[in-house]
Amino acid sequence: MNYFYDLWDDFISLLFPRLCYGCGNHLMRNEKIICTECFILIPRTNYHLKPDNPVSKLFWGRCMIEKAAAFSYYTRDSRIRKLIHNLKYNGIAEVGKELGKIYARTLESSEFLDDISLIIPVPLHPSKKRQRGFNQSDVISRGISDITGIPTETGLLIRKSVTKTQTRKSRYDRWTNVKDIFSVTDENRIKNRHILLVDDVITTGSTLEACANELLKTENVKISVVALAFSVI
Ligand SMILES: [Zn+2]
Repeated sequence: MNYFYDLWDDFISLLFPRLCYGCGNHLMRNEKIICTECFILIPRTNYHLKPDNPVSKLFWGRCMIEKAAAFSYYTRDSRIRKLIHNLKYNGIAEVGKELGKIYARTLESSEFLDDISLIIPVPLHPSKKRQRGFNQSDVISRGISDITGIPTETGLLIRKSVTKTQTRKSRYDRWTNVKDIFSVTDENRIKNRHILLVDDVITTGSTLEACANELLKTENVKISVVALAFSVI
């Protein structure tokens, strides 16, 4: 029976090839979303093992972040860039979830997540979310939740206004652009928590800084941050 099923599966794959979202190669029967080669070749930062890493240093003197890390490096022509492009601009939510799971397995093998009890994705403005169909940080967070069991909450931190695109802005402009746009909807549900803020790509850290500063207004909140990639372009 399995033999016929496999034959049928191969036949369907010929008609509708399943392609890797990182490199475009055909996926094997046991692969999904990302091929084994991409999985192996995506460079890991391993920042979760180095407290004084470049992502942590971004926040020094700006806001109180306990721990910060990123899964990979966002560079031109990188597989992670292609994957994130498919997630954000081609609407392939599964890519975010899969990468969230992969990163969560890495984080779980260390003490990075040990006292974190809540995951909050960086919110998108509702109009942008409608346009894209989902918030990429939500799906990444759900992937992390699936593996770790730490709950993701999406309504506790909201974005009040739409910002102009961040590209081509200086660090100061980016900061003034986002500093007052987030707000907390229910302080009781975040107080005394160590929260993991999740984003797709960290560039200057301004958006995460604005989110963290808003959350830190609540009593006894601690913040750590992770992203799928750290931009070194
Ligand atoms: Zn691939």
